[in-house]
Amino acid sequence: MNENKRIIHVIGMGPGSDDMITKEAKDALDQSDVLIGYNVYLDLLRDNYGYKEMLSTPMKQEVERCRMCFEETIKGKRVSMVCSGDAGIYGMASIMFEISEEYEEEFEIKVIPGITAATSGAAVLGAPLNHDFCVISLSDLLTPWEKIEKRLRAAAEGDFAISIYNPSSKKRHDYLKRACEILMESIEDDRPCGYVKNIGREGTECKVCTLRELSVEEVDMFTTVFVGNSQTRIIDGKLVTPRGYKR
Ligand code: SAH
Repeated sequence: MNENKRIIHVIGMGPGSDDMITKEAKDALDQSDVLIGYNVYLDLLRDNYGYKEMLSTPMKQEVERCRMCFEETIKGKRVSMVCSGDAGIYGMASIMFEISEEYEEEFEIKVIPGITAATSGAAVLGAPLNHDFCVISLSDLLTPWEKIEKRLRAAAEGDFAISIYNPSSKKRHDYLKRACEILMESIEDDRPCGYVKNIGREGTECKVCTLRELSVEEVDMFTTVFVGNSQTRIIDGKLVTPRGYKR
């Protein structure tokens, strides 16, 4: 490793609660002079790290937020970019590597993994992802909707359990309904499904339901959705995708 490289940490801070931040992430946060991230996530860290310098940019200014990390590092500060869940799952890890190419200085970007919403939400519901599964985001800000539809159909065709991120937003309030309708082209409409709101935060709420019921549920952007595979069952109110041990 080049000793002269400046280190930037890209930290996944889990779904929200302090208990779900890894020790490695806490150590990196402790060692940082400045924490950079989206305001909602910085607010979650304020109780324990409020004494640190915190910098942010508004939503949709993610690239500027990354540049801020490099600029502050060049000033000589120890910088951490913080993301919710895992930084490498719909997070800022990849864009940090891409932006690093713009600089002449050498940086070492250290990604610290976090508990992503798929696994923390799955734990609330039971064990819905306990076989092959895939993760699909319904956000079409960076991905064309046609591709999202293609991936939904492919996931259904492959009989994957599915974890859906970004199921809704103010502008995209009917996207989950559209996604469910696509899935129901090939999946039976009583397929066990579920969702969890505000995982690891105040107001955690979860529900187990059928795919048909899911299609008319009102969910918000702090919700992660789960669609079972053909073997998924409800056991004592929990959503369970068997691995096959009992067959
Ligand atoms: N990097 C994050 C994902 C960011 S994309 C991670 O690994 O978890 C944002 C989406 O993640 C949200 O729309 C929601 O679907 C999901 N999500 C993130 N945090 C959540 C939480 N605390 N509760 C429920 N869903 C969450």
